[in-house]
Amino acid sequence: MTDHALHVRGVVLPDDLYRDLWLTPDRVSVEPIPGAVTVADRGYILPGLVDAHCHIGIAPGGAPITALAQARELAAVDRDAGVLAIRDAGSPYPYPQLEDDHDVPRLARAGRHVAPPKRYLRDIGVEVGAADVPAEVARQAAAGNGWVKLVGDWIDRAVGDLAPAWDADTLRAAVAAAHAAGVRATTHTFSEEAVDVLVRAGIDCVEHGTGLSADLVDEMARRGTALVPTMLNVDTFGDIARRARKKFPAYARHMLALRDRFPAVVRAAHEAGVPLYVGTDAGGGIAHGLAAEEMLLLHERAGMPAMDVLRAGSWGAREWLGFPGLVDGGLPDLVVYDDDPRVDLRVLRAPRRVVLRGRVLR
Ligand SMILES: [Zn+2]
Repeated sequence: MTDHALHVRGVVLPDDLYRDLWLTPDRVSVEPIPGAVTVADRGYILPGLVDAHCHIGIAPGGAPITALAQARELAAVDRDAGVLAIRDAGSPYPYPQLEDDHDVPRLARAGRHVAPPKRYLRDIGVEVGAADVPAEVARQAAAGNGWVKLVGDWIDRAVGDLAPAWDADTLRAAVAAAHAAGVRATTHTFSEEAVDVLVRAGIDCVEHGTGLSADLVDEMARRGTALVPTMLNVDTFGDIARRARKKFPAYARHMLALRDRFPAVVRAAHEAGVPLYVGTDAGGGIAHGLAAEEMLLLHERAGMPAMDVLRAGSWGAREWLGFPGLVDGGLPDLVVYDDDPRVDLRVLRAPRRVVLRGRVLR
């Protein structure tokens, strides 16, 4: 481990200025620090990528992790791909210690997913009936560090299709309970019904959001409700539909229809001014380290301009999560690329330097 200051020089985004920065383990400085070691003297500098929806508490395959070391390993995959801030959108394994871990990206965490009984992924959420939702939301708010994750809808096998997790009053009470606890609330939603109630109840963010209507997109833009589209996850809807087709044909058809309209939903949300952020939904079925691939999907499939994709997956997302970037006094995290990612986002696949908490990790 080094304890001397670092120096980097290059084109710093988003300001687009060729400049020098100095880093201590605690902060960014725009004033020279004597004795600093130069670790990059050219290239394009971002304050790191952000995966605003992933799960380092869920092992590949979908079971909860059982040891802290596993979460560290999963986070290291993201970090080495240039992701220096993570929003963990629900973990069955608590790991508050990792917030201060030198090798782990900055963490914004929900506690466990708050889910309806016997409907959500086995062993992942804490499953509660309607009457217990507000109290459980308060408990999970205390377990995380600023976020609560609500499972807004999931397949209801009795119905044979997606259905809200609880009745509308309970969904509204869940959002109110999170806000009363002083945290932000986000929700997993695939279908049309629950997300409508939750957005109008003032939820802070929508995960996936495949069921958003044009009207609701406008409402989100008006309220400033964020959307994390997780296009990589929505690409798995075909597999979900194939496995479900025999027993739940209506559900399978619904999932395919949601998948097919999704690029247009994301495009409409971006055009309406909904704040969008990059999330891969890694953990379980999706591998870690794919933030750059999600960013490429947002650009190629949903038509987001490269600069907007970079904001959604770097400085804008950091600001949203409360992790200041490359300004004087900001957090000393950065990634250096040889070429300009604004010209070609594929550049993001291969960071040349990764610096986290003022230390060179790559
Ligand atoms: Zn997720």
